[in-house]
Amino acid sequence: MNGKAARLFVSRRTILPDGVKPAIIVVTDGVIEEIIRCSSENEINQVKRRYIDVDCNDFGNLILMPGVVDSHVHVNEPGRTEWEGFWTATRAAAAGGVTTLVDMPLNSIPPTTTVENLKTKVRAAKNQSFVDVGFWGGVIPGNHLNLKPLVEAGVVGFKCFLCPSGVDEFPHVDENDVRAALSELQYTNSLLAFHAECEVGNTFEQIKGNPCNYETYLQTRPPEMETNAITMIMNMCETYQCRCHIVHLSAGKALNLIRQAKQKQLPLTVETCYHYLCLAAETIPNCATQFKCCPPIRDETNQEKLWMGIEDGSVDMVVSDHSPSSADLKAGGDFLKAWGGISSLQFGLSLLWTGIKNRPTTNLGLVDVARLLCAAPAQLCGLQDRKGSLRPGMHADFVVWDPDSSFQVQEREILHKHKLTPYKGDRLFGKVLATIVRGDFVYKHGEFCAEPFGQPLLAQPFLASLLDF
Ligand SMILES: [Zn+2]
Repeated sequence: MNGKAARLFVSRRTILPDGVKPAIIVVTDGVIEEIIRCSSENEINQVKRRYIDVDCNDFGNLILMPGVVDSHVHVNEPGRTEWEGFWTATRAAAAGGVTTLVDMPLNSIPPTTTVENLKTKVRAAKNQSFVDVGFWGGVIPGNHLNLKPLVEAGVVGFKCFLCPSGVDEFPHVDENDVRAALSELQYTNSLLAFHAECEVGNTFEQIKGNPCNYETYLQTRPPEMETNAITMIMNMCETYQCRCHIVHLSAGKALNLIRQAKQKQLPLTVETCYHYLCLAAETIPNCATQFKCCPPIRDETNQEKLWMGIEDGSVDMVVSDHSPSSADLKAGGDFLKAWGGISSLQFGLSLLWTGIKNRPTTNLGLVDVARLLCAAPAQLCGLQDRKGSLRPGMHADFVVWDPDSSFQVQEREILHKHKLTPYKGDRLFGKVLATIVRGDFVYKHGEFCAEPFGQPLLAQPFLASLLDF
C-alpha cells in the first residue's frame, strides 16, 4: 500500500473526537498519518492485510486514547530535586498514561521567571524525560518585562499566586502586578493562570483548635478565599480580554461565578484536581498530612458541586497538581505546619475513571475522559495542533488502558520520588497497560524504554540557542 516505515495501532475501542470506534491508526515518523475507521472485524483484518509488512500493535478491546496531558505538575528540579525530579516524575507519568506534562514555574530553584532561568530548567530536564515536557513561566512582582521573551521562548503560559506560595523565591502578586502582567500578555495569545486564593482576614492567629485535626486546617482556608480571588480575576479577564485560567478550583461555591463568566463568553478556563473529586474532608484522619493541599479538600457536599461543574461543562479539565515534598516536610501530623501538596501524577486517569464509575447517574463517559484529560489541557497550553486528540497530523501519543480491570495502589508500585500519597491502599479502576510517545512505547506492561526520549516543548529558535543542549 505504501513504502514508508509505518506502524499500526489497532483497537475496537479507539477514543476519537466523535466517539468510541473500532479503528486502525497508521503512524509514520511519530505522527498520525491516517485513521481508518472499521465497522467489523472482517474490515479490520482486511486493512491489516494491506499493511502486511508493517509493525502492527493490536490492542483488541482495550481502550486506545490520546495520551494524557497533565498541565499542572511540580517537578521541582533543579533546586529541590529531593522533592521530585524529571527522571522520577516523568517515569511515574508514563506509567500513568501521561504523554505530556507541563511543569509549574515554582518550587524549583531558580523559578521559571526569566529566560535564563528557563534555560537552567531545560538543561536539568535533558536526557531525563520519559514523556514530553512543556513549561509554564512565572509572574512575580516586578518581572513583567520578562514575560514577552518567555512567550518567544515557547512557555505555554504564566502562573501567579494571589496569596503566599509557600516558597520565598516565588512571591505572590497584587492587583497592580496582575495589571502589569496582563498588559504585557494582552495581544500575545498567551495566558495567565491564577492560584485563586486571596487572604480574607481570618488569619492563623485567630484559628483555635488542634492542628492535627483536619477541621482546624480547613478553617484557615475558607471558600471565600477562592470566591474573592475569582471575582477579581473575572474583572481582570473582562477588562483585558486576555486568556485567564483558574488552577485547582476547590470551592464548589465559586461555580456560579464561573457560569456567569462563561455566559459572558470571557476567555476564562477552569481546572479542578483529582483529589477534590475523589477525596472528602469527612474521611480525612487526624494527622494525615498526605491529604493537605492548598486550597484544601472540602466536604462531600462541595465535592458533589464540583462533579456537577464537570457534568455541565463549567469545569474545563482535570489535572493532578502533583506537588510532592521531601518526607520530613510532611511528617509530624500537624496540618498547619506540613507542606501543602498531594502526589498523584501516576494515578490520575484511574482516579477520574473510578470517580466516574462511582457516579451511576452521571452523563460522563470515555469521550469525556479524553476531553477533560487530553484535549482541554492541550488546548489550554496551545499544544492542540500536536497533542491531546486523535487526528491525522497529530503526534502519535497514546495511552492503552483497561477500564474494567482494577488494581490496588501499593507502595512498591508508586514511581513518584516519594511514596506518600493519600491513595495508598485504594482500589482503582482503569489500569494503564501501555504508553506511547510520538509512535514509540515508553511504557508497556510495567517495563520502560531503555533511554528516555521525551522532548522539551519549546520554540525551536529558543532550543537552537541552547548551544550545549
Ligand atoms: Zn500547583
